[in-house]
Amino acid sequence: MNYYDIKNPTHKVTLKEAVLKSISAESGLYMPDHIPALSDSFFANLSNLNLQEIAFEVSNAMLGEDIPQDALKQIVNKAISFPIPLKQLDENLFVQELFHGPTLAFKDVGARFMAGLFQYFLRNEDREVVILVATSGDTGSAVANAFYNINGVKVVILYPSGKVSGLQEKQLTTMGGNITALEVEGNFDDCQQMVKLAFADKELNTVLNLTSANSINFARLFPQSFFYFNAIAQLGKVDKPVVISVPSGNFGNLTSGLIAKKMGLPVHQFIASTNRNHSVPDFLKGGEFIPQQTHHTITNAMDVGNPSNFPRMLEIYQKQHLAMAIISLILMEQLLMPD
Ligand SMILES: *Cc1c(COP(=O)(O)O)cnc(C)c1O
Repeated sequence: MNYYDIKNPTHKVTLKEAVLKSISAESGLYMPDHIPALSDSFFANLSNLNLQEIAFEVSNAMLGEDIPQDALKQIVNKAISFPIPLKQLDENLFVQELFHGPTLAFKDVGARFMAGLFQYFLRNEDREVVILVATSGDTGSAVANAFYNINGVKVVILYPSGKVSGLQEKQLTTMGGNITALEVEGNFDDCQQMVKLAFADKELNTVLNLTSANSINFARLFPQSFFYFNAIAQLGKVDKPVVISVPSGNFGNLTSGLIAKKMGLPVHQFIASTNRNHSVPDFLKGGEFIPQQTHHTITNAMDVGNPSNFPRMLEIYQKQHLAMAIISLILMEQLLMPD
């Protein structure tokens, strides 16, 4: 399977390059050149499969041309070593618990799967790759934990001083080894800005092989589609339309749900829940995407004014605003906090 650069679709790369580089030289995001559909027999049998079996079947459909089955099975089984249970709250209401990974963030699944892919692709190489991430807490902790001791990878994390929780600061700063955490006097946007400057610096890039572990990296994003397959599997026999609400910041988690739907998963509708940072909801209402300045709220993992996965959402809907506007919206105004 080839991966194309959304900014320049005739530019195609291998999975290995898409994963190791994260983005193209023009800062475009990569998408698979088609999204494979899973078979009817897979869906008929879905509720009999456990999480690891589901993750293997789904990733084999997407990545199977590029990674041999036994290696893929190893990556899946190592990455997904904890449950993702669906808990019933009411007759027709369920919540999926995404906090059973080692750092308690849903990003553990994507980060651990991505670490497995890096390990696989770098197994016969002596080059070193540097993963540079800015974090408001969740991403950095998950990435530090997932990439600890992975050969050929150095991780550098920038976090804003005093703005991550005490537990997260411990998770970030106590790994040691190939993980370096840098405390930045400033806020998350300052950290993000430094990362962007580093990525834009061609000279630095040739020396360091810089890459990212945010959801702009397809290897971080794609494994999150397992959540959705696993949720439907646990529902068992479904005779009602399924609607899934996804708290969104960079829209990585939502985009992986859209990929799951494209692969055939019967999801009737997604609800993209945002806080005051609602440039995507505004687009769905008005048809125009206008990136906003980030507003700071108490739900800081969702504070993104210009969500990086929006171009991928447009690709999945072939830039058809109406098809996409079926995604409905909840603006969680009650989560609003003054800047
Ligand atoms: C990362 C994160 C989000 C935002 O997820 P995206 O995939 O960037 O939309 C929301 N809530 C929590 C708790 C998170 O850790």
